[in-house]
Amino acid sequence: AEIPTAAISRLVTYLRILEQLETQDVSRTSSSDLAERAGVSAFQVRKDLAYFGRFGTRGMGYTVPVLKRELVRVLGLNQTWNVVIVGMGRLGQAIANYPGASDYQFQYAGLFDVSPSIVGQQIRNLTVRHMDDLKAFVAENKVDMGFLAVPPDRAQDAAQMLVDAGIRGILNFAPVVIQSSPEVGAQEISDEWRGVIVENVDFLAGMKRLAFYILNPHLKDAPLT
Ligand code: NAD
Repeated sequence: AEIPTAAISRLVTYLRILEQLETQDVSRTSSSDLAERAGVSAFQVRKDLAYFGRFGTRGMGYTVPVLKRELVRVLGLNQTWNVVIVGMGRLGQAIANYPGASDYQFQYAGLFDVSPSIVGQQIRNLTVRHMDDLKAFVAENKVDMGFLAVPPDRAQDAAQMLVDAGIRGILNFAPVVIQSSPEVGAQEISDEWRGVIVENVDFLAGMKRLAFYILNPHLKDAPLT
């Protein structure tokens, strides 16, 4: 059965709430408590969790560390994820220097660019490599994910290089829709793109949604995520 994308976004939110509760030494929670903290209904919380199993006891709620452990497992955060960043300009460098990713087992394995002024530079403890080395590097280091932080007009080609190298997931920061078929508008997904997941991160898109909803608050159906 398919699970709504929004349910997975909410699981990530529940996990963050459970982490906060744990730091506050709170050992038990309930669907209504989680719901209130997440800004959704208790029914929604129970429904989201029910996709993956039964984690609580009826009438007793959830044990915080147990539910946290289960969500970590469901989300696949108990395994190591090797990540490359492609495009080491302003954004790529900011991401590489942000410490939060290492809370879970996301590891920046390699940094890539094409500019002679950036390739060879040390950023954090890594040397920026040239894109020509991407394919061999991804294979050698079992890289699963790529962050795409190249200019918009370079994004499709760079994404194709990531996919050709065997990457399974792309976090795309460029404000373009990455195409998974050879021709624009074609329905057919090309073989190497089958199973590749692209997630888009675009704060300007968020600002556009905000502008709309500030002007049309009555049209809002759920919290902005
Ligand atoms: P930037 O120009 O500072 O950096 C882009 C880097 O990509 C450069 O170092 C360039 O050499 C490299 N590059 C170009 N072609 C490449 C290729 N084929 N393979 C690998 N590297 C390549 O740009 P930026 O400000 O860091 O933004 C990067 C992307 O993120 C853009 O698409 C931008 O629209 C988007 N974005 C940026 C921000 C931001 O705050 N800077 C915010 C949201 C989105």
